[in-house]
Amino acid sequence: MPLPVVTLSARGVDRLRSGHPWIYRSDVTASAAAPGDLVQVETERKRPLGTGMWSSTSQISLRFLGAETIEDERAWLAGRLRAALGFRQTLAIDATAWRLVNAEGDRLPGLIADVYGEGPGRVVVLQTLAQAMDRRLPLITDLLVELLSPAGVLARNDPRVRRLEGLPEVVEVVHGQVPDEIEIVEGGRRSRVNLREGQKTGSFLDQRENHAAAGRYARGRGLDAFSYHGGFALALAERCETVLALDSSAPAVAQVLANAALNGLTNVEAREINVFDELRELEIARERFDIIVLDPPAFAKNKASIPRAVAGYKEINLRALKLLTPGGTLVTCSCSSNVDEALFEHILTEAAADARAVVTVVEKRSQARDHPILLAAPETHYLKCFVLRKTG
Ligand code: SAH
Repeated sequence: MPLPVVTLSARGVDRLRSGHPWIYRSDVTASAAAPGDLVQVETERKRPLGTGMWSSTSQISLRFLGAETIEDERAWLAGRLRAALGFRQTLAIDATAWRLVNAEGDRLPGLIADVYGEGPGRVVVLQTLAQAMDRRLPLITDLLVELLSPAGVLARNDPRVRRLEGLPEVVEVVHGQVPDEIEIVEGGRRSRVNLREGQKTGSFLDQRENHAAAGRYARGRGLDAFSYHGGFALALAERCETVLALDSSAPAVAQVLANAALNGLTNVEAREINVFDELRELEIARERFDIIVLDPPAFAKNKASIPRAVAGYKEINLRALKLLTPGGTLVTCSCSSNVDEALFEHILTEAAADARAVVTVVEKRSQARDHPILLAAPETHYLKCFVLRKTG
């Protein structure tokens, strides 16, 4: 059966040629597609461009899959999943939790798949965030079971972005058995993850390599602001004398302490508190830290919130720089894709000037390598992590 045809305007064709896989509704001139169809993409003169996935509700009507004509969906999906796994196997990931599929970064738009645990007990946590991937959830589950033989597969389909695709928010086991909690090991540190209720698919796997990087600079007194389950706090605690973790969520704070205990770390304190308030209090009390991590949630969820986000990032970085001892390290992150690396660097420069601190850039880091960035789609480079040194 030939695929339904979607025709692009000249501007849409240009965008595809730039390598960006998203085509907006305004660049589609005709479509014979139903929600979630795979479609043949053509120019107005009927020249075939390749295959895409159709969404009937999103502003992103089309997500381009490649120049090839996809005749056998199962074989095509199996190929992309095998390629994703093959790449992960080259990364020497020092953890039992990792991302197998990172949407556009694995040429599988709208699909996230994370693996938690090892051996026969491991589970896959999936998200299908576009109509076409959601329609193929049973097929994707089948292929993942063939590829990894997991004990269970959980669909964590509760992100709000699914609303843009007209999809409901649901969490369901789609294969086998999935425990509520699973223990993972990252860089030799154990932690427990709540797969059904934790943030994202349970954990911030994108920060794994930054946790390790922060650990390499750790000494003296450490502060982990916006700690969640303590990914950074635990890495710091292995080398710091004491670590203070801050998070506004009570379950997160309890989990930091539980994870510290699981690793026999007795030098971690955790406070349930608003970081903005607490940084101010610590400054008034003239407290000092030798290493500080800032890993806030995405302040700029959309373009309209960029100015407020900029102010928020500037405030916490300014305060953190004041709290650092001379020679101290600031590991500062932004996961807003609407604040790109250049803007984030600009904010940090202004924060340093206002704090009257002389700051050097030690590392410019990003999301972990199992979260590949598609070069032509800057939105896929969402996580920035600067390691800065306060020289004076
Ligand atoms: N650093 C973590 C991930 C942090 S996610 C890791 O590497 O795993 C962001 C965290 O910030 C969430 O746990 C959320 O509860 C917390 N948070 C959001 N706003 C906050 C605020 N104003 N004060 C304190 N914590 C906040």
